[in-house]
Amino acid sequence: MNGLRVPPRKDSYRPPWFSDSFDYGFPLPAPVAVRGCGVCAGMAATLAGIVGDASGAADVRVLMRRHLRAAHE
Ligand SMILES: [Zn+2]
Repeated sequence: MNGLRVPPRKDSYRPPWFSDSFDYGFPLPAPVAVRGCGVCAGMAATLAGIVGDASGAADVRVLMRRHLRAAHE
C-alpha cells in the first residue's frame, strides 16, 4: 500500500461524530393551554382553527409560549 486511502463515497459517508439518534429538540412540543385562562383558551381555539397554514400556526404557538411564560410561570 502507498498510504493513500480511497475516499468514501459521498452518499454513504458519515462523519465519526454523526449519530442518527441526535435530537435537535425541534419541533418543540405544542404549548398546552392552562385550564381556566381565557387567553390560553383563545389561543388554543385560534390554533385549532388554523388549517393549512403551518407558518401562521407557528406564530400562534410562539405567542402562546410567550403568554405561558409571562402569565403562568
Ligand atoms: Zn394563559
